[in-house]
Amino acid sequence: MPTTELLNFVGGAWRRSCAAGHASVRNPATGETLAVVPLTPADEAAAAVEAAQAAFPAWRATPVGDRIQPLFRLKALLERDLDELARTITLECGKTYAESEGELRRGIENVEVAAGMPSLIQGWNNEDVARGIDEHLFRQPLGVVAAITPFNFPGMIPLWFLPYAVAAGNCFVLKPSERVPMTTQHLVRLCDEAGFPAGVVSLVNGGKAAVDALLDHPLVRAVSFVGSTPIAKYVYARATASGKRAQCQGGAKNPAIVLPDADHDMATRILADSAFGCAGQRCLATSVAITVGDAKEPFTERIVEDARTRRVGFGLDEGVQMGPVITSESRDRIAGLIETGTREGGRLLVDGRGQGVDGFADGYFMHPTVVADADPHGTLARTEVFGPVLTMLHAATLEDAIALANDRAFGNQACLFTSSGAAARAFRHQVRAGNVGINLGVAAPMAYFPFSGWGDSFFGDLHAQSHHGVEFYTETKVVIERWPSDWTRRF
Ligand code: NAD
Repeated sequence: MPTTELLNFVGGAWRRSCAAGHASVRNPATGETLAVVPLTPADEAAAAVEAAQAAFPAWRATPVGDRIQPLFRLKALLERDLDELARTITLECGKTYAESEGELRRGIENVEVAAGMPSLIQGWNNEDVARGIDEHLFRQPLGVVAAITPFNFPGMIPLWFLPYAVAAGNCFVLKPSERVPMTTQHLVRLCDEAGFPAGVVSLVNGGKAAVDALLDHPLVRAVSFVGSTPIAKYVYARATASGKRAQCQGGAKNPAIVLPDADHDMATRILADSAFGCAGQRCLATSVAITVGDAKEPFTERIVEDARTRRVGFGLDEGVQMGPVITSESRDRIAGLIETGTREGGRLLVDGRGQGVDGFADGYFMHPTVVADADPHGTLARTEVFGPVLTMLHAATLEDAIALANDRAFGNQACLFTSSGAAARAFRHQVRAGNVGINLGVAAPMAYFPFSGWGDSFFGDLHAQSHHGVEFYTETKVVIERWPSDWTRRF
């Protein structure tokens, strides 16, 4: 069977790219090629921006109550195709079917919230700021905005941006990860079916050339990015250098503290899912567990048991709890970091390397791994692994544990497990992270709260989702007005 070549969606039409280069989209559980994706050249990416700009005046002039109607249809279409979309995510990204379904539900939640745009976009006003003078603030769309998204949530992350951008009156150009472009292809087909006018939603596949073209194009007013920290920094610097707005979410190294008074069964169940779920490829995965005092023994016992017994395999197979990592390079990089951790003094309690999965000899599998007593200042304890590896540290007190948790450049998430409200309150106040969980392992904000990464996990000021998304995709206009006072005269 010939391999499917994925298309771009520009100016309301599906177009085959003239790209000289293509990338293979592979099923990480089998290594088989699912499709090929064009590495769209700069001139085609620029043409997508120009088609989006051509659509902008009419879309901007469309009343906001009409602009949200396609979002209601999009929600219904996403629900109609949920099963097919979830299967596609599992096929190209590797996570389990339940995880794929879960991310789609979080994406749909953003469509629902953005459908409230008639209220969200409201400004404010004052009557009589001086005698007979009124002042108003309006929010207006920017124009063409672009988003560049990573491989690990192909269904959810584009929806952190798209619904807010278009409901606010912008035209949106999406450049998805070239490793998982099939989900996005389906998502954009649904946007088309939902009835967005031509040019309001566009899709440009590819890699660096397409990204750079979007970053440099003078008609692109704002850039949303999610991916690794080095690329987030690069995108932020390049976009802002030409005066664009940018919100760039980067990598993570998330700590979780377990206190002796925690419910250990619950804490381990939640933390195991946080560390090993999605094969550790979540930006909110717990990567470092810090036990305090007597919590060490019960937590260690339970987490080792979970890591040893977690069922690894193909995400569409019944009973599988964890899929493969995204590429063989990723698996090798993770294995290298585990090796480094042991050289730095860490003790391997569970070693997930080199085990494979029966019947999937060519899959990129890495089983759960637990490294205890790691060097808190070493490479393993401080580098984003993005794989199913939990590093364990130990502290005598909550204060020492918070100091360990804060001793890192990233600030995406920090969690605490306890039954003490006072400990939870101290932690919440002192910990340096923008998303905080108390007795939670993946503290992903609901769509009506901003996704609040700090430090090297975020470059910019307004985050994705909710009111931040609305502010990011609009600019404020303040109007001060005075009218002749003879309003009683007859015309
Ligand atoms: P990545 O940085 O490799 O790629 C992200 C996007 O940038 C892709 O669309 C890719 O095509 C593009 N890109 C890659 N290299 C580029 C270059 N040199 N120039 C221009 N564009 C380039 O990230 P990934 O491997 O796809 O995703 C995993 C990373 O994303 C992890 O670090 C994870 O923590 C992070 N992430 C963060 C969040 C968050 O909310 N903070 C959410 C999800 C994922």
